[in-house]
Amino acid sequence: MEGGLKPMDAEQLRENAHKMVDFIADYYKNIESFPVLSQVQPGYLCKLLPDSAPSEPEPLEAILDDVQAKIFPGVTHWQSPDYFAYFPSNSSIAGFLGEMLSAGINMVGFSWITSPAATELEMIVLDWLAKILKLPGDFLSTGEGGGVIQGTASEAVLVALLAARDKVLRRIGRDAIGKLVVYSSDQTHSALQKACQIGGIHPDNCRLLKTDEATEYALSPESLICAVSHDISVGLIPFFLCATIGTTSSTAVDPLLALGKISKSNGMWLHVDAAYAGSACICPEFRHYMDGVEEADSFNMNAHKWLLTNFDCSLLWVKDRNALIRSLSTNPEFLKNKASEANLVVDYKDWQIPLGRRFRSLKLWMVLRLYGLENLQSYIRNHIKLAKHFEELVSQDQRFQVVAPRKFSLVCFQLLAPDGNEDRAKKLNHDLLDAVNSTGKLFISHTVLSGKYALRFAVGAPLTEERHVTEAWKVLQEKASSLLCKQNH
Ligand SMILES: *Cc1c(COP(=O)(O)O)cnc(C)c1O
Repeated sequence: MEGGLKPMDAEQLRENAHKMVDFIADYYKNIESFPVLSQVQPGYLCKLLPDSAPSEPEPLEAILDDVQAKIFPGVTHWQSPDYFAYFPSNSSIAGFLGEMLSAGINMVGFSWITSPAATELEMIVLDWLAKILKLPGDFLSTGEGGGVIQGTASEAVLVALLAARDKVLRRIGRDAIGKLVVYSSDQTHSALQKACQIGGIHPDNCRLLKTDEATEYALSPESLICAVSHDISVGLIPFFLCATIGTTSSTAVDPLLALGKISKSNGMWLHVDAAYAGSACICPEFRHYMDGVEEADSFNMNAHKWLLTNFDCSLLWVKDRNALIRSLSTNPEFLKNKASEANLVVDYKDWQIPLGRRFRSLKLWMVLRLYGLENLQSYIRNHIKLAKHFEELVSQDQRFQVVAPRKFSLVCFQLLAPDGNEDRAKKLNHDLLDAVNSTGKLFISHTVLSGKYALRFAVGAPLTEERHVTEAWKVLQEKASSLLCKQNH
């Protein structure tokens, strides 16, 4: 390169970034032409790329050609309108622009002084969203609480658990850690188990209380009372309850109001995981799923799932920010500064695991401003309408069955075995999943509910329209017909 490397020359940035934006815009334009689920085999890429890094610079064009030819085949297209697997992970123009700006500024905002705007915008935007969700005032930064952007829901539940653990241990003594007990339903995300492992909770003291079809896979208050009183009677100490609004498997909603009372009367920390369904609660007609959140100590939702904010952006609110800070703060000499010492500011490094943090509030701010609440609400409503449409299509076909009530934009369903045999149904649905996903025309995932193997159809990609849902159902029907036909012969 002439005159040496200029890694951040403004004019070169302008030229190259324009090319990259064009490349990405074309990607979105053609996204339907790719197989949604990548069809490559493990290790495919090392056969296509050299085994050492180049010593001479290469042109951007050559690299973008490689992206087309070698990288895209190994990409599963989460932004495809035919993506219906797991839960969505939304991208949007607003989110994208926010990410871009954040990459441009590229600061590391661990304490207020490292970029005051980063800390203060995060506080403001999280207060905005807390108001949209009608979270109790205690969660706002104006009181004892506040919001913080974590990378993921897994980090959110971990820091909540650590805060709760240390709060109780300060009272009863460090040595009691082996007696602490955590509760949740068996539908709770495995992130809780990981948090317990990291948090030093005795593996025997994590209660995953059984749920079933009768309670629509929600945690029953009776089973919680039962487990808590038994544990107390043998000298254990209940300290943490994780309730979920919209479980990962089937979007079950735990009854917060009743659970909150139990956790409060037993001095437990209540964490509410609304990673996916929290976004729906910005609509007044779905807000009731959060009733009882008044009793919670922490509340989490992923704006990066279903609220048009590019990954990663997981929002955590706590009522007692000092509990979090006492658990996670350190104060090394090299980070000391006047504003922090005078206790005038929030230093988000003390609210999370890492020190460094990105300017993630920018993209959420962009999303809220460029779209506005009303558009976001109709965005959610449209996906729920499309999921209802899919649910109707499933119910109209006698060969299929919806296996859990649809609350938001996820439909859990099953192809019935003609002879009603559950083992055969499992194999049949497993084969159906493979068959539809290997067409590349759509991507769905699966779960197991009460021992039943069920297919999950989650609407929520920003580009999905009714025609994509209808077309996906056609593919499912065709593949089901040919599987059933094969079975008969
Ligand atoms: C997706 C999801 C998680 C995990 O999300 P990460 O942000 O990837 O950690 C946790 N809980 C629920 C209910 C989820 O839907």
